[in-house]
Amino acid sequence: MKIITEEKPTKIAVVRCDIVSETCPGVGCFMAFNKRKMYFKDYDENAEMIAFFTCGGCSGRRVYRLVKSIKKMGVDVVHLSSCMQMEDYPECPHIDSIRKTITDAGIEVVEGTHH
Ligand code: SF4
Repeated sequence: MKIITEEKPTKIAVVRCDIVSETCPGVGCFMAFNKRKMYFKDYDENAEMIAFFTCGGCSGRRVYRLVKSIKKMGVDVVHLSSCMQMEDYPECPHIDSIRKTITDAGIEVVEGTHH
């Protein structure tokens, strides 16, 4: 009997700014992921976007609960969206604690999505 082994696809999530989400549908993040550009350029074609969520508003109140949830789903990497980090948006004053919440859960963080 032939045994087929498939490499496990990398599971990716994006957390983004709740304030910016009022005006941004997230197209830039998804275009970058779908085309494997910018901060997604190192993923192979099997990589999967399994979650895309906002922080829940200052000070990132949803992040802890949602990170627990996606960890159960086997997420490998969480991207902090570019809108949390760009100079032409108000800079996120809570990004350090949001990042720490994710890394404390044992999940790798990538800084940025499409800018
Ligand atoms: S905590 Fe940061 S990312 Fe979340 S709404 Fe506030 S400024 Fe935006």
